[in-house]
Amino acid sequence: MPVIGQGTWPLPDRNTLRRGIELGMAHIDTAEMYGDGRSEEIVGEAITPYSRESLFIVSKFVPSNGTRDGLQRACERSLRRLGIDYLDCYLLHWRGNADLAETMAGMEALLHAGKIRSLGLSNLDPWDLREAAAGLRHAGVACDQVLYNLGERTPEAHELPWCRENDAAFVAYTPLGRPRNRAAESVLTDIAGEHGVTNEAVALAFLVRDPIAFAIPKANALAHVEANAAAGDLVLSEAEIERINAAYPARKRSGSLPMN
Ligand code: NAP
Repeated sequence: MPVIGQGTWPLPDRNTLRRGIELGMAHIDTAEMYGDGRSEEIVGEAITPYSRESLFIVSKFVPSNGTRDGLQRACERSLRRLGIDYLDCYLLHWRGNADLAETMAGMEALLHAGKIRSLGLSNLDPWDLREAAAGLRHAGVACDQVLYNLGERTPEAHELPWCRENDAAFVAYTPLGRPRNRAAESVLTDIAGEHGVTNEAVALAFLVRDPIAFAIPKANALAHVEANAAAGDLVLSEAEIERINAAYPARKRSGSLPMN
C-alpha cells in the first residue's frame, strides 16, 4: 500500500488521478459522501486502465448507514459507482450516532462476504477506537484516518499511539494544511532546496516518518500530484526532522480530535 496516496475531495480530476497512479500513488481515498457519490464515479473512471490488484481503493460510509442492512446497501452502491467488486478498506467516516457494535458487526459481515478486504475508522478518538475494536470478533481495525498536518499534530499523542499498539495504520488527511508562518516555511524551503523537491513534499515526508503513517494529499493540478509523489521517496535526516519539529511544534490537545 503506497505511503503517499491520493485524496478525492473536492471532486478529483480523472487524468490527474491517473498520473498519480502511474507515479506510484495507487492508494486512493474516496467516500460515498463526496459529491453524493460523484467522487467514487470519477475514481471508477480513472482506474479503468489498471489492474485491480495494483490499486488500493478506500471508501467510507456515513454513520447513518452503519446499520447491518444499511452497510450492505451502502457498500454495494459504492462498489457499483467505483466499478469494482471489493474495497481494499472500508471506513466509518466519523463517529456520529453510529452504534459501534452494530457497525463493526456489519463491517465484519462485509469482510466475510468478500466485499471488503479490511475495515477501518476515521475521525475517532482513542476512547471511540477502543469501543469500536471491542465490537470486532474476527478482524482488527486496519486504520484510523485523521486530520494530521504540520499545524495539527495532536494526533501524535493520542491516535498514533493507539494505532501503534493495535497494529493499525495511521492515515493523515488534509496533510498539506499548515499555519502561514514565514519563518517556519523557510525551514521547509531550505530542506526542499537540499533535496530538489517542493515544500509540500517535505511536509508529507515529515508526516509519514513513522512506519505506520500514511498520507492522502489531494491534488487536481498535475504539477501538484507530481510534487506529492516525490515525497514517497524522500527520507529526511534526523537533523531535518528536528528542524521541522522546532518550526511546527506539536501542541497539547484540549478536547476531542479536531475534524476538518
Ligand atoms: P490537502 O490534501 O492537505 O490539500 C489539498 C489542497 O492542496 C488543494 O487545494 C490542492 O490544490 C493543494 N495541493 C495539493 N498538492 C499540492 C502541492 N504539491 N503544492 C501546493 N498545493 C498542493 O487537503 P484535503 O483535500 O482536505 O485532504 C486530502 C484528502 O483527505 C481529501 O481529498 C479526502 O480524500 C480526505 N479527507 C478525509 C476527511 C475525513 O473526514 N476522513 C476529511 C477531509 C479530507 P489542487 O487540487 O489545485 O492541486
